[in-house]
Amino acid sequence: MSNLNTQMIEKYRNSFLREVEANVEEGEWVKMCMQCGVCSGSCPFGPHWEHPPQEIFMMIRAGKRDDVLTSDSMWMCTSCYNCIVRCPRGLPITHIMHGLAHYAHRLGLAPKENPTHKFAIKFWDNLTRTGRVNELKLGLALYFMNGFSEGIKTSLKMKDIGLGMWKTKRLSPMEIVGGHKCKDVSGLHKILAKAREIEESKAQKFSG
Ligand code: SF4
Ligand code: SF4
Repeated sequence: MSNLNTQMIEKYRNSFLREVEANVEEGEWVKMCMQCGVCSGSCPFGPHWEHPPQEIFMMIRAGKRDDVLTSDSMWMCTSCYNCIVRCPRGLPITHIMHGLAHYAHRLGLAPKENPTHKFAIKFWDNLTRTGRVNELKLGLALYFMNGFSEGIKTSLKMKDIGLGMWKTKRLSPMEIVGGHKCKDVSGLHKILAKAREIEESKAQKFSG
């Protein structure tokens, strides 16, 4: 169990709703849900998830902290926005789902083998290193995400697409040894550190 998770359990003892309100993007909206079920009925993937959005919001209010934060349901959201446009209470459901996924990751509770979780980590690390996505390294990291032999198989399967991208100058083999970056990488890192600081101070302010 991560230190942050232990601290949060201690801090919000018996009030998971309050914890969500303080730490999850748009989490303060959860209490506005009237459990009509329109979001779950509108979600193209809802029936295939363990917990569609309406159920997640009900579980938050019922204090089912572990069940919510270890669930892979939030990681399945494709940001289609069907739920948001139909919610009679105007809840920013998509953002809450992503906010819950992000919070679960920060606490070390996100399902480690979930492909979207794995991809999100690889994408973020790749992007924030230089401020530009290194498509070659990201692609290879994804192909080899589930082991060496699967990586080789996927690379061979995708080779024509890779060659096509190379020919049309969408991909450079030289990216493997460096690649392009934004003009002010250290400035970008300072912005990200500041954003993290603001996020943490917001959570402290909310929890009083
Ligand atoms: S549509 Fe809105 S009010 Fe209805 S269950 Fe979903 S989040 Fe709650
Ligand atoms: S935005 Fe996410 S939760 Fe909402 S309907 Fe689409 S997939 Fe479902």
